Order: sequence, then C-alpha cells, then structure tokens
Amino acid sequence: MQNVIAIDGPAASGKSSVARLLAGRLGWNFVNSGALYRAYAWACLKAGVPPEEESQVAEAAVSWDVTCGIEDGRSWVAVAGARLESELDAGATNAAVSLVARVPQVRALVVGQLRGFAEQGGLVMEGRDIGTVVFPGTPWKFYIDASAEVRQQRRAAQGLDDRVSERDRVDSSRKAAPLSVAEGALVIDSSEMSVEEVVDRVLGHVGGALGTPAREENV
Ligand code: C5P
Repeated sequence: MQNVIAIDGPAASGKSSVARLLAGRLGWNFVNSGALYRAYAWACLKAGVPPEEESQVAEAAVSWDVTCGIEDGRSWVAVAGARLESELDAGATNAAVSLVARVPQVRALVVGQLRGFAEQGGLVMEGRDIGTVVFPGTPWKFYIDASAEVRQQRRAAQGLDDRVSERDRVDSSRKAAPLSVAEGALVIDSSEMSVEEVVDRVLGHVGGALGTPAREENV
C-alpha cells in the first residue's frame, strides 16, 4: 500500500477542506469518498429505485455504472460515463445518500473502488470509515470533529439544503461500517480552528515521521 492518510468525521466537520489542503501541501492525491456514495445515491434516484428500500437498492446497485478516477490530484466520479458535479450536492442527493450508503452491497462496491486509489500514489482520503474499514492498516488516522452547532452553521453558510444531523444519525447507527473513531486515530475538534490550523496539526503529527504509527493522543 502507498502512503495513505485517513480522515474521518461527521458531516460538515471541515474534513474535506482539510484533506484537500493537506493533499496539496504533500503533493498527494485527494479523494472525497462521500462523492462516490453520492454518485450511487444519484444513480439510484435516476434509476427510479426508492432509496429507503434496502433490498431493491442492494439488488440494483451492481448495475449502476459508477466509475471514478484521479485528475489533477483530485478524485472525480461519473455515472454512465458522465461526470457528476453539482448533482452531488443537490438536495435530493443529500436526502438519499445516507440511506443508500447503509446498504452493505453498495459499501462493498465503493470500498473496492476506494482501495484502488492507493495504487496511484500518496493519498489523502476522507470519509466515515476510511481508518476503520477502507485502510485499517495505515498508521495515519485522524478523526475531525466539530460541535453540531458549528457544523450546521458551516453547511448553511455554503447555501446547501442538507439535514446534517439526520445524516449523522443514520451514518452512526447503521450496522455496516458505522461512523466511529478508528483505533489509534488522533481526534481533532475543529470547532474553534481554521482549516490551516487543522492541517498544521495533522502535519505536525505526521511530521517528518512518515512511516511512524499514529500515537494515541487527543486534543
Ligand atoms: O462526506 P459526505 O458528507 O459528502 O458524505 C455523504 C454521505 O456518504 C455520508 O453522509 C454517508 O452516508 C456516506 N459516506 C459513508 N462512508 C464514507 C463517506 C461517506 O457512508 N466513507
């Protein structure tokens, strides 16, 4: 496995901004794993499959042509060959994604795709289960948190229609790979920190010691 930094945390905790900036500083690829789950959710809606119907989603998911790759250091996702952009953050996608992401068959497809990114060089990947399931062997695991109030404010400031607390409830209570702090992960509460401060904190932890296992230490 190439170098992988795993960043997990709840919705709108700032982990995407942190992961993007961190990857830029390191010259590594940035992968937003939530975009893949969002692509499956969008494909589900497009196929007319009700996202709340787990068995229908499980059966149909394998036929949705969801692909992904890296371009200019960042991940992209496509459905039936067409790249998705604004569709990923649409209100309907936000409402469907946690329902689709709780289905084990969808998760198995996505985890396989996510692991493939590690063959393309150093990687900063963010999501919900990167340190626990996708790359449990990486020594560099971080869990970025923020208060529920701050997270809802950050989403609202982006002008997005997104019920963050409802997604967190489903993501944390599902049976398959629920959101949790990976063993050995450094927990960073970003409520009162800027993106740069969080990145500096992560880099300070990883430091020149790429290859040294993450210490158990919380801030
Ligand atoms: O990261 P983002 O908020 O875009 O993720 C959208 C949704 O995708 C999450 O609410 C969760 O349901 C799902 N997800 C997941 N596992 C990941 C990343 C995202 O279940 N590793």
